[in-house]
Amino acid sequence: MSRESVMASNGQPPPSREAAAVVGCLRSHSTFVMCAHEKPDGDVLGSGYALGLALKALGKRVIYFLDDEVPKNLRFMPEWHLSQRTFDGVPDDAIFVFFDMSDQSRAGSALQWVPGERIVDIDHHLGNKRFGHWNYVAESEAATGSLVLHLITALGVEITPDISTCLLATLVSDTGCFQYSNASPHTMRLGAALVEAGANKDLIIEQLYYTRSLGGQKVLGRALETAELTGDGICYSVVTQGLLEEFGATHEDLEDVVGALRVVEQCEVAALFKETPAGDFRLSMRSRGRFNVMQIARALGGGGHFRAAGATVRGPIQSAIATVLKAVRDEMARETRARKA
Ligand code: AMP
Ligand code: MN
Ligand code: MN
Repeated sequence: MSRESVMASNGQPPPSREAAAVVGCLRSHSTFVMCAHEKPDGDVLGSGYALGLALKALGKRVIYFLDDEVPKNLRFMPEWHLSQRTFDGVPDDAIFVFFDMSDQSRAGSALQWVPGERIVDIDHHLGNKRFGHWNYVAESEAATGSLVLHLITALGVEITPDISTCLLATLVSDTGCFQYSNASPHTMRLGAALVEAGANKDLIIEQLYYTRSLGGQKVLGRALETAELTGDGICYSVVTQGLLEEFGATHEDLEDVVGALRVVEQCEVAALFKETPAGDFRLSMRSRGRFNVMQIARALGGGGHFRAAGATVRGPIQSAIATVLKAVRDEMARETRARKA
C-alpha cells in the first residue's frame, strides 16, 4: 500500500466544505431535533445520541424524535430512554438533523412536514438526495456514525466514553461487527480509537449479535427450512405474520435471517420477504458482491447500499416474489452485459 493510501485510510472522512457548513449550523443554532429512519438501527440511533450528547456538552437543547420504539437490543445506548414520539417542546426555530437516510421519505410519515430549510442531512447511502439545507454525505464511509465522529471532533467536544459507545455501535452495526467489505482499514482504526476512548465494545457486541429471543431463533430456523435457491443464484425465503405469531416474534427478531440466506453456497443475491400487518412485504436483500442490490431495490422503489438494500413490495406473496425475482434478474442481466462490453 502506498504511503498516500495508508494516510487516507488512517484519517477521518475528508473535512469537506459540506462538513464545515454543518459545523457552522450546529454552532449557530440552539435547539436540535435528532431524527431517525423507520425501523431504526444501531447506526441511525447511535449517530443521533452521539451528536445529541456532544451538542448538550456545548449547552444546546436536544430532542430525540422517534416515530418507532427503540428496538430492545439497542436499549443499552446512553440517551435511548429520552427518545420521544411527539414534537412537545420543539420551538419554531429548531433545526432537524436527519441521520442515515437517502431521502426524507425514509423518516416516516411523522417527519414529512419538516421544511428543507430547517434540515441537516448526514448520511452515507448511495444516491442521497441532499434533501437538507445542509448536507454532509460520504458514500465511502461504512456508517453515518463515522461522519458524526468527524463533526464532534470539529466542534471541539471531548469524545467521552458514552459518545464512544454510541459511535462504536454505529460501526459495529453497519459492518456486521467489522466483517463486511465496507470495514476498511480506516473503519477499523476508527473502531480502535473509540475503544481507546472508552466505548463499551463487549456490551455492544453482546447486545447486537449474541442476544436473541427464543421465538426469533425459531422463526430463523423455519425461514431456513423453507428457503428456496434458484438455478441462477437467488436464495429467498418468506416470513409471514402467521409465522411470527406462532412463535411470538416481531420484525425486530428478523435481523439475522437474510444474512443466513446469503451464506448459502451458490447464492449471489439473498432476499427475505417479511409480511407486514397490512399484507405487504418488507424486502431485505444482500449480495455476495457481484450484483448491486441497491439498483434492484431502487427499481422497486427502495434503496440502500451495494451489498445491502431494501424496499417494500405489494402482496400477495406470489406476485411479490415474481416482481422481485424479475427485478433481480434484470440487474443480473445488466451486470453481465456490462461486464462483457
Ligand atoms: P435491511 O435489509 O432492512 O437491513 O436494510 C438494508 C439497507 O437497505 C439499509 O441501509 C437500509 O437503509 C436500506 N433500506 C431498507 N429498506 C429500504 C427502503 N424501503 N427504502 C430505502 N432504503 C431501504
Ligand atoms: Mn440505518
Ligand atoms: Mn447506516
